[in-house]
This record gives sequence, structure tokens and C-alpha cells, in this order.
Amino acid sequence: MAEIVKSFAISGVDGYLVDVETKTIAGMPVMSIVGLGDTAVKEAKERVESALNNGEFYFPQKKVVINLAPGDMKKTGSHFDLPIALGILLETEQITNRRGEDFGVIGELSLNGRLRSGTGVLPMAIAAREQGLTRLIVPAENLREASVVEGLTVYGFNHLKEVAEFLEGKPYQKIESLEPPGWEKPPYDLDFADVQEQDEIIDYVVIAASGGHNLMMIGTPGCGKSMIAQRISTILPTMTEEEAMEVTKIYSVAGLLRNKDQLIKERPFRAPHHNASTNSLIGGGNTAIPGEISLAHHGVLFLDEMAEFSKKTLEALRQPMEDRKVTISRVKYTNTYPANFMLVAAMNPCPCGYFGNLQCKCSDYEVVKYRQKISGPIMDRMDIQKTVGSVNIMEFNKESFSRSSKELRERVEFSRNLQKKRFENIGGISCNAEMNHALIKEYCELETEGERLIQQAYERFQYSARTFHKYMKVARTFADMDGAAKIRKEDVAAALMARDLDKEGKSLMVL
Ligand SMILES: [Zn+2]
Repeated sequence: MAEIVKSFAISGVDGYLVDVETKTIAGMPVMSIVGLGDTAVKEAKERVESALNNGEFYFPQKKVVINLAPGDMKKTGSHFDLPIALGILLETEQITNRRGEDFGVIGELSLNGRLRSGTGVLPMAIAAREQGLTRLIVPAENLREASVVEGLTVYGFNHLKEVAEFLEGKPYQKIESLEPPGWEKPPYDLDFADVQEQDEIIDYVVIAASGGHNLMMIGTPGCGKSMIAQRISTILPTMTEEEAMEVTKIYSVAGLLRNKDQLIKERPFRAPHHNASTNSLIGGGNTAIPGEISLAHHGVLFLDEMAEFSKKTLEALRQPMEDRKVTISRVKYTNTYPANFMLVAAMNPCPCGYFGNLQCKCSDYEVVKYRQKISGPIMDRMDIQKTVGSVNIMEFNKESFSRSSKELRERVEFSRNLQKKRFENIGGISCNAEMNHALIKEYCELETEGERLIQQAYERFQYSARTFHKYMKVARTFADMDGAAKIRKEDVAAALMARDLDKEGKSLMVL
């Protein structure tokens, strides 16, 4: 009979059960691994053999066959080392599982038998629980991460020898006392209270955050665009546990969970540089790992200096923005990751940045060319496009006061709750920005005066149906801020100002 140790593999952000089956047969003392393993899996041979021969164990003088079942799923990673080593020890009766219980096992081995931390431990721990296992053995450094899963007792070890002794009945040595993951509001380091003199844009930032609208800020260098963008995740509603779990799984798979992390509770803020490759933004690499758009899931993706990103990279954003997920295909792997993020972009108004000021020497042609770097379809997905005034000019214009992130977040949460109720029975939608035409028709009822105003604007500026729908969605969010059932005249007026217009009534992006 063959010895079976239960382990796991990852597909996308989900783990699944893998039976690591070990059998020894007469023959040369070599190991063969079958079951669609990648290079890292194949290299387990060398690590396991060395780890076994390093201490008080030995590699058997027989042929060892390892079968990773199910055989039709591709398996990647080095975490099969430990289950393979334990399978050999049990099969050759070097150890006995005197605990008589089933354990899930994951962990990479060093050549001398030490356990190394790995990626994707959280999804694998979830899979263990879903498969009805209640006990999981992991490298000590992954203990916190795996302990997030309820109903699972997780044992962390530093060395193969410790795991063997534990199975033989030696009491488990607790490594550290673990705080239960607890659900308190995340402490953000940044706060909107630090932002001075930008009340008008902040009003629109709050609307964007409330309705899940994508936001474009256009302004001269140093006017505070980045400072504002960095603080947007602090006013989004606190993540639900389910959302936090989804985000943590992505970071686990990407290998970006730090040792101290349990659940990620802060909404992500990702700000890739404009030199970032399409792969790093969208996802890719040999094993099709998640990119920035997935790392920004449930949070904010900030593209500063958007016009400096390559056209190809920006175009690659279109499909994931539509689908709120991304599928990455590589020669060997195809993975699908969630990518539901709020896009916040910033750009200068012209190549030098000081358009409209005396110091700007950019020609009209240069300015047009610069703005056209961002394609229509991408601009079209930015519901709110606002210019941000430079700070020193506004100082003279009006009195300014700053508002805290907490205060702003309460307003956002109020309107988000209304939206949640509104879309309760409609699958896959949680905020106004996600409404399709049919939903806009159903949920954007106007008061008479509001209707008159948008009719006038429609006739005067000859909006496309698409643009008209954008305005309606933003107007719906303005009305929600006050809990108004119907969209009022002032909501329409505010929405019409959400995309700064020039005198010809065209978008600011067209001169
Ligand atoms: Zn200029």
C-alpha cells in the first residue's frame, strides 16, 4: 500500500487538495515525481533527498515513486517538499503517525532540513478547511497567515525533524502566542486633514469614493494631486471580512504578505510608476502571477502622470476594468484574478505642466498631442474629470478648512449603504458606477426641474448617450449623499460640473 499525505496546490487565488502518494519499489535508489509538477516541484527530489540524508533519517535504497493526484491539474511551487519527505518517512517506517489524525501538510525544505516559508499559504489553508481537514502543518513563518482560517488548528515548525517528532507523539511546542485576527477598523497613517485649500476637488473625491466612480485629476505639478490620491483609500468604507479575505489571498499568492500580517484590513493603494511594464500592471511572468490591478482589488489604483504610461499598457487596462477581473494566459499557466479597483489618475495639463500660466511655452500642437496620449475609451471610463487648482491661487479666493478622513468616510459609508440596499438583489453590483443602461433607467428617476436642466444641457452640448449616462450615474451619487430618493436639480448641476468643460462644451481633454 502507498502512503498518502494530504497537501494543496493553487489555481488563481484558490487552493485545492492534492494527494501526495508515495510508494517504494525494488530498483535503483532514485525518486521520480509524476502528476504535472513544474520545475520547482521536480527539484523537490534534490532537496528532499539531501534533507533526509542530513540528519537521522536516510533516503531508502529503493526506487521511490511520488504521485501528485489529481494528475490532470498543473502544480507549481516548492511546498510539496515536506509532504513528500513525510510520505517517504512513513512509507519506509522511519516514523509512524502515532497521533492517528489527518494533517494537511505544506512547506519547502532547505538542503539541511529546515522549513522555509512559501507563497499561497492562505488559499491552501482555506482549501484544507473546505476539504474537512481540521489540522494543518506549515513552516513557522507562515503560521500567522494560515491561522486566519477559522476551524483549523495550525502547527508551525522550523525543521523536518520537529515535524517527525510531533507526528511520533512529542507535544507541540507553541512558537508564539497568536492574537486572534479580530475585526477592528484599520489605522491609516494618512489623513485628509493634512490636505489644505482643496475643498472643491475633495468634494468630488468624496463623490467618486461614494459611487465607486473613476477619477481623473488634471493640474500643475505640486498642486496636491498625489497627496489627495494617496488618501482616497482612507475614506472608502471599511472592508468586510469577506473582502479582506479576498485581498489577503491575492497578496498571499503574490508572495507579498509580510510575516506580521494576518488579514489585510486596509484597503489597498497601489501606485505603479509610469515605466511599469504591462506584465507588472496586468499580471504575468512565467507562472502568471497577479499584477498591480489585482493587488489594488477592493482599493485604489493610482496612475500618476497617466500620459507618460505607454499606450499599450493603458489599453491593456480596458478589458479588466470592464470585467472587474483579469485572465492571464502564459504558455504553461492560465490564471484568473479579481481586479475590481477604483482607478484614480492624475496628469499635467500640458508637457511642461504649467498650461495657462505665462511660463508655459508649449505649442497648441504639443498640448493636443500630449492629451491625446490617453485614448478616448480610457477617458470615457473616468466618470469624474476635474482640474485641480494650484494652492496659492485658491488661498486668496476663499476660506478653507480641512476635513478629517473619518468625517469624510462617514459620508461615504452613508451613501454606500443606500447603494448596497438598492442593488441588494442584483448580482455583482455594489455601487452606482457599476450600473448598466437598464439599471440607470430604473434607478435614476429625476425631479421635474432636474429633468429640465439635463434636457437643456443635452440639447446644448449634444451629448452622446454614453456621456449622458455617465452624468446620470454621478447625479445619482450626489442625490445619495443627501439620501434623496429622486435626483434633484442641484444633483444634476453638480454632476454636469464633474467633467470640466470648456466653452465649446467639449471635454477638457479636447482643446
Ligand atoms: Zn506647458
